[in-house]
Amino acid sequence: MKKMTCRELGGPCEEELQADTWDEMVSTMTDHVMLTHPETTAEMEKMHEEDPLKWGREHKPLWDSKKEESPDFL
Ligand SMILES: [Zn+2]
Repeated sequence: MKKMTCRELGGPCEEELQADTWDEMVSTMTDHVMLTHPETTAEMEKMHEEDPLKWGREHKPLWDSKKEESPDFL
C-alpha cells in the first residue's frame, strides 16, 4: 500500500489518499476530486480531452518512487 496526497496528484488539498496499485490510486483520486474539488474535475477533464496520458505521465513517476507502507489500523 502506498500513500500520496491530493496535491502530489495535481489536486488542491493536502488530503492523504492510499491505494495498493496505481490504477486504484487513479480511481481513488478521481472520486476524491469529483466529491471535493468540482473546479479541479473540470480542469482534469479538459486535460484528459487534450491528452489522455498526460496526467499519468506526470504523476505516476512519483507513485513509483513512493515506498510501500503497511496499512495502519486506526
Ligand atoms: Zn483534495
